[in-house]
Amino acid sequence: MHTYRLAAIFLLLAVACGTANAQALPPKAAPTQHVAVSTLAPPANSVFNAEQATKAYLAEVSPAQRARAAAFAEGNHWLMLEDSLAAVAICALLLFTRLSAKMRDLAAGLTRSRVLQSAIFAFQFLVILTVLTFPLSFYEDFLRRHAYGISNLTFAQWLGEFGIGFGLELVAGTIFIAVVYGLIRAAPRVWWIWCTVIAICFLAFAMLISPVYIQPLFNTSTPLKPGPLRSAIVQLADANGVPSNHIFVVNTSKQSNLLNANVSGLFGTTRISLDDTLLKRCTTREILAVVAHEMGHYVLDHSVMVLPWLGLILLVGFGFVAASFGGLTGLFGGIWNVREITDPAGLPLLYALFAIYMLIATPAVNTLSRTIEAQADIFGLNAARQPDAFARFFLLDAGIDDLTPSPLEEFVFWNHPSAAQRISVAMRWKAAHIHDPDIANGPTSP
Ligand SMILES: [Zn+2]
Repeated sequence: MHTYRLAAIFLLLAVACGTANAQALPPKAAPTQHVAVSTLAPPANSVFNAEQATKAYLAEVSPAQRARAAAFAEGNHWLMLEDSLAAVAICALLLFTRLSAKMRDLAAGLTRSRVLQSAIFAFQFLVILTVLTFPLSFYEDFLRRHAYGISNLTFAQWLGEFGIGFGLELVAGTIFIAVVYGLIRAAPRVWWIWCTVIAICFLAFAMLISPVYIQPLFNTSTPLKPGPLRSAIVQLADANGVPSNHIFVVNTSKQSNLLNANVSGLFGTTRISLDDTLLKRCTTREILAVVAHEMGHYVLDHSVMVLPWLGLILLVGFGFVAASFGGLTGLFGGIWNVREITDPAGLPLLYALFAIYMLIATPAVNTLSRTIEAQADIFGLNAARQPDAFARFFLLDAGIDDLTPSPLEEFVFWNHPSAAQRISVAMRWKAAHIHDPDIANGPTSP
């Protein structure tokens, strides 16, 4: 489950269909100078009633389906709290039973190298954490997803993916923690600042290698076959300065029927990836609307732009961890047999404090994500000019998210704008462009 939480952080990334609409405008570069999300015309200020169209789209989802989706979303929010509490409880158990101190002594008995000692400790800690939270992971990622019909994995397949994720986490986590303890020993007063820098480098490195080295461990990609869809995507990419020589279809239907796409990579590895579910479930217009959104993340440099903001969130977090460690070991250090911050046996305390901080920082991380998603939405609408296909796309996966959360819920829990918001933006964009020939003669709204 921790893998999925980290993945959530990473989450921070047209052409009219020629056959259906002969009057479509040729693609042109979408403006990127001012992607302000709050400057669209108010809903009623046009011959086209955006508010009514938004309501009509939302009404296409049955009340039963909406209730079920809202229940799923609410359950996810509680599980987020439960995950954090479980991690904190396990850390407390390790400290109060002095198991953590014994794990440190074991590592110290194996090697004199302090780097290796912290790595051996980290390895033991991550294994214990994953084993003890396994029932929760199994419930959340397998049982519950099957209960809601959003997983296609057999138990053996799920377990295989869980094992691969765990292996990656173990390698990356052990290296990262050993580096952090090196920093703590080298700069005991300002380690948390250096730790932020290193964490950002780890994140950037993971984003860089993920499409080429990590993703293939879970899915296979095949080049998108030549045809009208490929030509339309190439045209859209070329018009917006996105490299178009690598367009792949990823077999995500293996995991679920959910829909997604992305533009990823750097330095010549840039690729446009479409989930194979898009080809099975969506029209060409819908695919172009979504791909244009993903191109927005690329053109607007979102993967680089989020790093300093994430850095700020992490800096406050590591600062909080550093400031709290001394006070808590002052109170309980005797019981735990942990005194110094350089002692790896204090890792469960560092981890628990960080988990609590990240839970509290959820709205900040989500707001960062929602902001770039809203920018990419506007970019995608400008580039693909498919407001109705874009709106309809959000109804296709309506079974997994509350369509109309309250503003507070959206602020705290939503890492994308809610479907109601996104459909509303698409319809307001349409209202603002209703006199353009391609929009006036394009698909009609409900
Ligand atoms: Zn996006």
